[in-house]
Amino acid sequence: MSPATRDLKVEALITAMADTIAAHADELTALDQAIGDGDHGANMKRGFEAIRAEAEQYAAKPLPDALKAMGTKLVMTVGGASGPLFGTLFMALGKELSGIVDRAGFAAALGRAIDAVAARGKSQAGQKTMLDVLYPVQQALAEGKSADAIASVAAAAADATVPMKAIRGRASFLGDRSIGHMDPGARSTALLVAALVCQIGSKHD
Ligand code: ADP
Ligand code: MG
Repeated sequence: MSPATRDLKVEALITAMADTIAAHADELTALDQAIGDGDHGANMKRGFEAIRAEAEQYAAKPLPDALKAMGTKLVMTVGGASGPLFGTLFMALGKELSGIVDRAGFAAALGRAIDAVAARGKSQAGQKTMLDVLYPVQQALAEGKSADAIASVAAAAADATVPMKAIRGRASFLGDRSIGHMDPGARSTALLVAALVCQIGSKHD
């Protein structure tokens, strides 16, 4: 792969992520207004616009280093509970990815990065958080599912947070009243996954 091709790919990934977050910021805000404090759309948009502004700089780095730098930027700019968690996801994935080239290795690295998010959030699957999308997506990736199928898994997993009761994060303050609403972080995670697999899928078609 030439450096030019590599650069283009990272920039395209960043554009796809920032575009989908910007397009759905109001929806993420509305979801967070229902069971949180209404800042998730603005938080995510701020973070991904900050990354977009420095896309060229990230694209010049090898992917592991680019992911680590993006994670640091997310921690600095997103804020809230989700900033350190998305930041950890990107930073840990960057760390775990070093030297990995194949899909199975990528899936395993993603699994370890998600575990790092869970450790940071003192959370686990089933608590109505972003983890409820991340784990099924990792499983679908490990099973060799297609890009489209992985995006569908992500969307369904976000939908599946609706009947859950929040056990972690701000929504947990609502107890049973958190039931019946989609978790904002699960939705933003599904949006990011859809943007990513669309880019990766189109590279291999
Ligand atoms: P805040 O809750 O501080 O306002 P955001 O609104 O940006 O931050 O993000 C809320 C999202 O963060 C939730 O919808 C949930 O998915 C995720 N989240 C919050 N706490 C945790 C946690 N401990 N573990 C995993 N995810 C969490
Ligand atoms: Mg919030």
